[in-house]
Amino acid sequence: MYGDAQVLFDFQKSGGYNGLVAPLRMITVSLMMPKPPPAPLKTPDDSTHILLHSCCAPCSSPIMDDILAAGINFTVLFYNPNIHPLAEYMLRKEENIRYAQQIGVPFIDLDYDKDNWFARVKGLEHEPERGERCTACFDMRFERTALYAVEHGFSVFSSTLGISRWKDMNQINASGGRAAARYPNLHYWDYNWRKQGGSQRMIENAKREQFYQQEYCGCVYSLRDSNRYRLSQGRGKIIRGVKFYGRDDVLPQDSPG
Ligand code: SF4
Repeated sequence: MYGDAQVLFDFQKSGGYNGLVAPLRMITVSLMMPKPPPAPLKTPDDSTHILLHSCCAPCSSPIMDDILAAGINFTVLFYNPNIHPLAEYMLRKEENIRYAQQIGVPFIDLDYDKDNWFARVKGLEHEPERGERCTACFDMRFERTALYAVEHGFSVFSSTLGISRWKDMNQINASGGRAAARYPNLHYWDYNWRKQGGSQRMIENAKREQFYQQEYCGCVYSLRDSNRYRLSQGRGKIIRGVKFYGRDDVLPQDSPG
């Protein structure tokens, strides 16, 4: 058995201190057992050079750390025309660039072709999160990523989108697989980045780096729905651009809505 092991015993039955009557209690002794080494990362075609589609700095930083530690070369690609408005898009992108530069990884900044994004999701404006609009959104982002991969000699791409607990990993992987299938010899790497404590390290990294803390998925419809939910809970609307991990002293108060 790996990880923390706990040994429990009944203090009173053991005689207590020097035979004195002791209250019934359980004593917990933690023994630290060695953890297994993490399984080495292995790309689908053993390529040591991949393209990583990134949605934001908090989600991507533990994944970038893992890929770097595995000795796999990678380039970060930022293609997220779903993010609204432009100021929010710029803030999320700049945070991502900051971390990529910090660890010395190439960063590709593709177009903010929001008009194409709105055209792609037309008619799906009232879909719930994880519904058909999100499938179209993932498809569009991964199709562009796949094209870039083929045009620039990558045989594997992956994405940071699935590390968030708010996302449907099967939905994301299906989109990634569809995009890769458009080209021969291109693979979508559906590695579960939540493994090996990825979700926990996402929070730890975000606090350490004081990343911007976005409060909605990204598109104008997710902003609308998040605000509706907050108002239904008696909270104010989201104030964009002011909340950062690890900076509790400057957390904003909810707006009056
Ligand atoms: S909720 Fe998120 S994934 Fe869904 S369409 Fe909007 S930005 Fe894309």
